[in-house]
Amino acid sequence: MRTAALSLLSMSLIHCGVPAPSNPPTPGPVERARPRATPGRRASPPRRVKVTFAGFFEDRTMRVDLLHRGTASTESYRVAALVLEGAWAGSRKKLLDPFPYGAHRFEVRDLASGALLYSRGYSSLMSEWRTTREAKRRGKTLSESLRFPRPKRPFELRIFSRGTDGKMHPIFRKGLDPRRRARPWKKMPSVVVRSLHRAGPPHQNLDVLILGDGYTSAEASKFWRDASRFAAVMLADPTFGAHRDRINIRGLWVPSPVSGVSEPRKGLLLHTPLGLSFDTFGSARYLMTEKNLALRRIAAHAPYDALYIMANTSRYGGGGIYNLYSTFPSDNEYDEYVFIHEFGQSFAGLADEYFTSATSTENMYRSTIEPADPNITAFIKGRFKWRKLVLPTTPIPTPPKARYRHVVGLFEGAGYKAKGLFRAQLDCKMKGKGHVGFCRVCARAIGRMIGLYSR
Ligand SMILES: [Zn+2]
Repeated sequence: MRTAALSLLSMSLIHCGVPAPSNPPTPGPVERARPRATPGRRASPPRRVKVTFAGFFEDRTMRVDLLHRGTASTESYRVAALVLEGAWAGSRKKLLDPFPYGAHRFEVRDLASGALLYSRGYSSLMSEWRTTREAKRRGKTLSESLRFPRPKRPFELRIFSRGTDGKMHPIFRKGLDPRRRARPWKKMPSVVVRSLHRAGPPHQNLDVLILGDGYTSAEASKFWRDASRFAAVMLADPTFGAHRDRINIRGLWVPSPVSGVSEPRKGLLLHTPLGLSFDTFGSARYLMTEKNLALRRIAAHAPYDALYIMANTSRYGGGGIYNLYSTFPSDNEYDEYVFIHEFGQSFAGLADEYFTSATSTENMYRSTIEPADPNITAFIKGRFKWRKLVLPTTPIPTPPKARYRHVVGLFEGAGYKAKGLFRAQLDCKMKGKGHVGFCRVCARAIGRMIGLYSR
């Protein structure tokens, strides 16, 4: 099964939070903000404005559905709809993203003053599709959604994409009026949400939502058993468990007309509510969905900051995209490993630390550009992110010897590269499939990310 594990690991490299270096984003036509609601006012330069949640937001979730079109060398966005979901689940105090992770970043600015109200980094299925061979031949459009607290007044949405230079470049901007266009979400009577672990109110805690796909009505009790088991796995993990008093976990069951999920290579195409499918982008174990709108309509029944989708299957596979969702199988020998590993990627923006699998996209990271990911470094000019955690007695770089097994150092080999990229510890949940927890640097990144969503 070692081979199978490596296959999954090499598969998961295509869902890291950076686009392929060979694809510089070509800014699409920039849609200028049209300040219809405030004629004559300019959106920039921003004025000094004190931004508070109560001053600029209502306690509702605004969802902007976008159409993200791309080829290997171009990309563009278009707004498809504004949807008003339920109460805002995120923090009312931490509105700006302090982290540099992800292939994209979005900003919500007050249209009248230009003040930055909200920001988040994220990655997308499109940013990965653009790295495929198919993207060199044709374009594709995928649905995506951005969620943030509902602004009280007209706002400007700005979207940036990371280029080959590692920096964010503007791709899209548009003025939107939440009072004119937003329509309310619609409740579906068949969806059931239950708490699996409660720490406290959504504003002050990380809200994790586990959705099931491919569970029939007859399998409802199996869904709740499975979801409870994985909630317990998360709380038993030393890193996540240490923050259990700041994590809410909910399960969401939606009945599927058929059991299991799609496996196109076997000719199995199932119409499940969330549309999970193996063989995504031709990668056998890559388990994702392109049915973003279905996912969003169903997930809107619960407050959430982070999404998990559990496939009712015993087949090995999974996937995780930063600040989008992660997936895992319900009944595979390695399901608990996939569950935690992929969440490290989708929730905390962690990079894969392994480097032994031969992959077709081994140039995903360059050793000449410092990756944004918190747990790998190119060690340029002697600098690396976790230097403060290294004892003065530890050699830098650190030899991969047993006596350094438990220390934080600078070990060469990470991010699919045996040379030129470094990780912090000899082993980590982001490196191998063994019974090892997150290294101290990954654990620190997870703790900081939980902090962004709690208290
Ligand atoms: Zn690590």
